[in-house]
Amino acid sequence: MLLEVRDLYVEFRTRDGVAKAVNGVSYGVDAGETLAVLGESGSGKSVTAQAVMGILDVPPGRIAGGEILFQGRDLLKLKEEERRKVRGAEMAMIFQDALSSLNPVLTVGDQLGEMFVVHRGMSRKDARAKAVELMDRVRIPAAEERVKQYPHQFSGGMRQRIMIAMALALEPALIIADEPTTALDVTVQAQVMDLLAELQREYAMGLILITHDLGVVADVADRIAVMYAGRIVESAPVHDIYKAPAHPYTRGLLDSIPRLDQKGQELYAIKGLPPNLMDIPQGCAFHPRCPMARDVCRTDVPPLNEVDEVRGSACHFWRECLDG
Ligand code: SF4
Ligand code: MG
Repeated sequence: MLLEVRDLYVEFRTRDGVAKAVNGVSYGVDAGETLAVLGESGSGKSVTAQAVMGILDVPPGRIAGGEILFQGRDLLKLKEEERRKVRGAEMAMIFQDALSSLNPVLTVGDQLGEMFVVHRGMSRKDARAKAVELMDRVRIPAAEERVKQYPHQFSGGMRQRIMIAMALALEPALIIADEPTTALDVTVQAQVMDLLAELQREYAMGLILITHDLGVVADVADRIAVMYAGRIVESAPVHDIYKAPAHPYTRGLLDSIPRLDQKGQELYAIKGLPPNLMDIPQGCAFHPRCPMARDVCRTDVPPLNEVDEVRGSACHFWRECLDG
């Protein structure tokens, strides 16, 4: 395994109490594999990724337990300086909002080039050539010219390609993309997602794709981990999930994907709101919103049951769910 997160806990201290953002998450991704992590906002999917990247270690966020094994080393045991090296060269993150992640007063060429100057000790001239090459790789037209432009001179889709180029620059073993296409128009979304998938295959990287939208991952992910209230509630190969979900929450997410043959019909939405992380419901955290909830759900936390060798569901009634 390239990356293995084991039983991770993350909490945030706030004035009103402790928010339990991640509550025992385990997942893994191999080289050349894409794991989609799915859930609503506040499910802990971004926080888990930030813990992996090591950009959480500033209070009030605190890792309260677990291990993060990357290429066999536990990242949580590394010194900050070693951690920074891993973060720069071996894993990279792509965020939703490219405009705020890029430096507005530097040309994109200088920002891309900086990676090679700082990490590879290249001359400015060579770094500039590398920047052009990368912009070509992410299919930005007229790269020779556009490398001299500033972030605001690019469209949202093109800026997201620049973010992908930045992430790829040092050929990391792992890329984490957090809602990389959420801010884009639907057609541009598909193009950027295809590009990311293509580069992932070509570089044989591990890719963790964080999204709230089950609709965008069908063609690109190998596995899906569905998160709710800081836990993984279902984990399975992508095709199994689309065929038949083994958790009512996954079913709700599937039913809320817009489909072409349903045009004009009202879209299904899971009723209610995600839980307050300072006061997570007893038993199954999903029970207040679950159409299948029964008494036991209000008292007993469902473990991640083994549905088969490659699939788990944290629902007491996963068999029923699977049977539809
Ligand atoms: Fe619903 Fe109960 Fe399953 Fe939780 S354990 S998802 S409340 S049926
Ligand atoms: Mg998020």
